[in-house]
Amino acid sequence: MRKKIVAGNWKMNTLPAEGVELAKNIVGQRTTVSGEVNFLVCPPFTHLAMVAEALKGSDIALGAQNCAAEAKGAYTGEVAASMIAALGCKYVILGHSERRQYYGETSETLNKKMEQVYANNLTPIYCVGENLDEREAGKHFDVVKTQIEEVVYNLTAEQFRNLVIAYEPVWAIGTGKTATAEQAQEIHAYIRKVLAVKFGAAADECAILYGGSCKPSNAAEIFAKADVDGGLIGGAALKADDFLAIGKGFEK
Ligand code: PEP
Repeated sequence: MRKKIVAGNWKMNTLPAEGVELAKNIVGQRTTVSGEVNFLVCPPFTHLAMVAEALKGSDIALGAQNCAAEAKGAYTGEVAASMIAALGCKYVILGHSERRQYYGETSETLNKKMEQVYANNLTPIYCVGENLDEREAGKHFDVVKTQIEEVVYNLTAEQFRNLVIAYEPVWAIGTGKTATAEQAQEIHAYIRKVLAVKFGAAADECAILYGGSCKPSNAAEIFAKADVDGGLIGGAALKADDFLAIGKGFEK
């Protein structure tokens, strides 16, 4: 049985006190959704310690949105995976399309970040996905295959067992446009096939999340698909009731 996961990517939103309030509201309403659904939130770095405190005693996990490619040292402005782990994080989002697009994140950097994440016993949520031009040119399968081959294929079998993938078509992120459930299933199944080429049957155990304008009204249809194991949620993760209602998508 694969894990059912709903992960909130807060991006660069909320002031610290607002983030704490949001976390407390999520904890407060948690019992409205089945305990089978694993929730996690990824606030900005500045909020991690305070949000960790707000989540204490709940089963909502904490994640970061990025980490440094190096372990420590003279890297002004960077945040090491060890620091994130020390604050109680369990997950780190890596390779989000916004980081690839605006911060020039490449497979080379992501391989180094992966190493740091595993060295600190964190679980990466590795994002893949095509942009609109690539989708329209029918290149989406090749794009995600390359993103997986260049990074995930470098993992050991043991590391792979502790990996979450998020398929996020760039044209659906923050645009209100969602991939159809059929489009999501088609590419999730393909991703699982690409993973199986390298990791065999273990690919069946890997949680693959969908991300891109996922909300309470469309989650159930998308999550009903065989190879969709949950969602990476941006905008709708900023409201506790919407975020939790997305988790209810598994119950329908
Ligand atoms: C994201 O950026 O990870 C995301 C899925 O954003 P949104 O839900 O706002 O499209």
